[in-house]
Amino acid sequence: MNNYNQKYGILKEYFGYTTFRGGQEQIIDAVLGGRNTLGIMPTGAGKSICFQIPALIFKGITIVVSPLISLMKDQVEALIQNGIKAAYINSSMSYAQIQKVLYNASYGMYKMIYVTPERLCGDEFMNFSMNTDISMLTIDEAHCVSQWGNDFRPSYLRIAEYYKALPYKPVISAFTATATDEVKGDIISSLEMKDPFVFTSGFDRSNLYFSVEKPDDKFAALTNIIKRNAGKCGIVYCGTRKNVDEVYERLCENGFSAARYHAGMTDDDRKNSQNDFIYDRKNIMVATNAFGMGIDKSNVSFVVHYNMPKDMESYYQEAGRAGRDGEPAECIILYGKSDVRLNQYIIENGERNEEIDDFTREEIRRRDMDRLKKMTFYCTITGCLRRYILKYFGEESENYCGSCGNCDGNYETADITVDSQKIISCIIRAKQRFGVNVIISVLRGSRSERIINLGLDKLTTYGIMKDKHTDYIREVMEHLEYKGYIFSSKDKYPVLKVSEKSREILKGEKTLIMKTVHKERDEIKPVNITNREHDRLYDELRRIRTNIALEQRMPAYIIFSDASLSDMCARLPRNEKEFLEVSGVGERKLELYGKYFIEAVNNYISVNNISDRTEESESAEVRLLREAAEAAGKVKTEEKATITQLCRNITEAAGKDRGINKLRDCITGWLLNNEYLREEKNYRGVTVKRAGRLCEQAGIFEEKREGAAGQIYYNVYYNEAGQRFILDSFDLIIEYYKHI
Ligand code: ADP
Ligand code: ZN
Repeated sequence: MNNYNQKYGILKEYFGYTTFRGGQEQIIDAVLGGRNTLGIMPTGAGKSICFQIPALIFKGITIVVSPLISLMKDQVEALIQNGIKAAYINSSMSYAQIQKVLYNASYGMYKMIYVTPERLCGDEFMNFSMNTDISMLTIDEAHCVSQWGNDFRPSYLRIAEYYKALPYKPVISAFTATATDEVKGDIISSLEMKDPFVFTSGFDRSNLYFSVEKPDDKFAALTNIIKRNAGKCGIVYCGTRKNVDEVYERLCENGFSAARYHAGMTDDDRKNSQNDFIYDRKNIMVATNAFGMGIDKSNVSFVVHYNMPKDMESYYQEAGRAGRDGEPAECIILYGKSDVRLNQYIIENGERNEEIDDFTREEIRRRDMDRLKKMTFYCTITGCLRRYILKYFGEESENYCGSCGNCDGNYETADITVDSQKIISCIIRAKQRFGVNVIISVLRGSRSERIINLGLDKLTTYGIMKDKHTDYIREVMEHLEYKGYIFSSKDKYPVLKVSEKSREILKGEKTLIMKTVHKERDEIKPVNITNREHDRLYDELRRIRTNIALEQRMPAYIIFSDASLSDMCARLPRNEKEFLEVSGVGERKLELYGKYFIEAVNNYISVNNISDRTEESESAEVRLLREAAEAAGKVKTEEKATITQLCRNITEAAGKDRGINKLRDCITGWLLNNEYLREEKNYRGVTVKRAGRLCEQAGIFEEKREGAAGQIYYNVYYNEAGQRFILDSFDLIIEYYKHI
């Protein structure tokens, strides 16, 4: 069998999927072709399959380096559930256990063996490696080799040493979700990967809904979020251990089923509470950022940040733990003004790493402050939050995603023009020689010795904002900085300067608006676009899954993901053949669990007298498109719209508030197939959509744009005829999705 058939065969037989997700196939092909490969993809994109499928095809064994015991345990269990032979080696095992695994491995018992980097260069493992046919060395969470990342692990640097010691060189595949160029460079150089194939996938996670709320009462806001996600799992991240304890205790007092996790607890307590969450015994985890790495739990429906995290890297990583199964999920920051100070304090007083010199330490401090600032911007901007995130990671996107708190327009604004004028003139009067704190003191009319001695109390701007809170002034300043009206110098003690542009404000030529409070969204419920008509069946399937999980002492999501259960409800499989068509069902899972689920479906069908199954067996896409088609007549077109805007208009006309992205994906899929659109790689190697060969017939045109760094990209628009064209084509689009 050739590689092509083989990889698709394995995808279905072992993993239960019929199509690859973006990037998976390219990576698998590169690895199978013997090329060292680095895959950079966001959490939940499906990195594991990228090395697991080649590992199954290769003749020899694959060594997977993984940083955490819990992570490797989870992955190995999932592999075994899929009928794949794998094992792990780590410090939780006895000498005899390790010997046994290595013995089995040397006889070709496993296709994959997971190992911590610390074990890699140990005598036993080295000995084993010298005498075994190793086809591939895989490095998971590869950003751990980089000092620039947040998870630097010195032992990761020994991987290169291990590789060099091998008598022949297996192909290397490395994976991470960290996208910055620094980290990428570090991975390639430290592993000495020559001419690697680097795949960077788009960083968007379209099933995640982002928002920032600024509630007066954070706890009340939190309980609202939990209530509207009743019965679902979620993580609540807090900035300090103390906050974790407080929030945890209040949740418990109020009758919620919560667990907690932070570094101040004993190992046993932490482990128990982590298990409570993973095994669905408790549905809310309150934790510091110590919790999460290595948690593969796929059915997390919301991630709330009770305190703003310290940078966008941490935020996207932590928020990304929601919705790994592809189901809709929300990521919310409960932003409070003291969060900035808390993070500044942590940066200034954090643990001292004695291994670095003063100069580097200062560099890192400055970098952290800068990152913190960009995190604050995220909490105060009025534009699309998704766009801000993607841009931060170097990706261009539309101005409007239709699925974040700002695109929903769920906020209130304040006119800050006058206050901005006061701040800018104060900076100018103080001769652009002072930093944030001094300027705030002057504006608030501080009587401090320093201000008086400097004679700053003589300025005309002295005390002109004495009725305003320090945090508010700071926020306006940050907004001005974000908008490019003021900036901090790059000195050791940064001073505030004004830019040329600030004149617009002083002259009153420009009005400035800043986001203030975020309205609560409890009336908006995330609706699952797969349209759970079969809610009762879903509950029953979940119950069966829970029982199996308890019996097997395995987390429920390792048995089947929520996405698989949803698909069972959509397809109603009545026999083994139909059950195999369910997403996530491979041969092994059919054999192990098929009968229980098939029986439940058949019961459900007979109890509910479901006879005509053609409707029910329709795919989620077709159903979504039918709804759109029904609403098409009511949609008002615009002179010019992006596809997302059009889809938002359609969804609104259909009376729904979610599902925009999914509809967009369906429509663009069809447009691509008909050459109205085409795909190409942009300057970053990210696949983007462009107007296709037949674009004119479909009223599609594009506009060329230039980014800040001179990079060129294109925005695709639909004119009025184009929007009509799509609205009139739903019959064709539905036919298309019925047959793929
Ligand atoms: P990552 O390691 O990138 O965070 P995982 O490898 O854990 O992501 O995959 C996330 C989820 O996506 C898993 O539940 C996995 O089974 C599922 N998945 C991966 N590839 C596919 C695919 N081609 N089709 C459908 N689901 C997939
Ligand atoms: Zn948005």
